[in-house]
Amino acid sequence: MQRIFSGIQPSGIPQLGNYLGAIRNWVNLQADHECVFCLVDMHAITVWQDPEKLRNQTLTQAAILLAAGIDTDKHILFNQSAVSAHARLAWIFNCVTRLGWLNRMTQFKDKAGKDRENHSAGLYVYPSLMAADILAYKATRVPVGEDQKQHLELTNDIAQKFNHDYGVEFFPEVEALIPPAAARVMSLRDGTKKMSKSDPSAQSRIELTDDADTIALKLRRAKTDADVLPAEPAGLADRPEAKNLVTIYAALADLSVEEVLARHQGEGFGPFKKALTDVVVNAIAPIAQETTRLMQDETHLANVLRSGAQRAQAIAEPIVSEAEKIVGFLK
Ligand code: ATP
Ligand code: MG
Repeated sequence: MQRIFSGIQPSGIPQLGNYLGAIRNWVNLQADHECVFCLVDMHAITVWQDPEKLRNQTLTQAAILLAAGIDTDKHILFNQSAVSAHARLAWIFNCVTRLGWLNRMTQFKDKAGKDRENHSAGLYVYPSLMAADILAYKATRVPVGEDQKQHLELTNDIAQKFNHDYGVEFFPEVEALIPPAAARVMSLRDGTKKMSKSDPSAQSRIELTDDADTIALKLRRAKTDADVLPAEPAGLADRPEAKNLVTIYAALADLSVEEVLARHQGEGFGPFKKALTDVVVNAIAPIAQETTRLMQDETHLANVLRSGAQRAQAIAEPIVSEAEKIVGFLK
């Protein structure tokens, strides 16, 4: 059975893009993989987080993942900082990664914007911590959204350079599992920007704990154009906002874009957004309800994470110890 590793930052409430790009895939992959799912709090603090909020968001995210169908009897769910192997391997990888490689990373450019000098060194070396997350478990498959593809290519570059520099065949090659549909859900306010849980505007995203009224309001306000829905997908080219809403509909209703357009062609966005609201509410209301129930017992959630961390540690510790030996650390 292949091992999966994937993470999500407790930097906010998970949004629809996290669900379609990652979480929904995680749930399905549990059937035939050994899965390690991680709330990557060390990644979250690459951008300042209020400590109390970070703690709360970590528990809320655990609840959301359980509500979405992550099965912690069979698989591992924990928070990254609880397993020191991540930080230890990340340091080794910082010394393997080349500055030129990091300079090409588009996530850093997007997040730092023009004010590069004022961002943390952690944000810059984020991809080498991500490589450590995955390779501390020698995971071979990583389900992520399209925005993480470049970081996974870098993970393979780091693994190869480590193996080459130390003359070993130690770290395996990893494969990105990117969903065929809705791999990059876009912001509701700007069809050229990806939806993010850390975007300052909550109007830009649907959060997995939003109730039906909030979802309806956010979709009503979502940016669109004045045209009607076309009959063919080609008619969505150069209409990023329209394309995004149709893509979300198709992914959540398990239809193709062609099928959605066949049903709604010629419609304006007023009626289409109403139909879309029903589809979104149907998909996420059960998760939101179950999350509310699970949040009533924070001790249970903390225990789930603690036990997950112990199981994660048992896998990662021997792998990272071996990597430390390979580089020549005296044991
Ligand atoms: P942040 O804004 O703090 O970076 P985020 O919304 O980008 O938050 P992450 O925790 O960075 O979420 O990513 C978790 C997973 O969700 C990753 O696999 C990522 O590829 C996926 N993902 C994030 N945003 C989208 C999106 N808009 N569409 C599809 N997948 C996404
Ligand atoms: Mg992100």
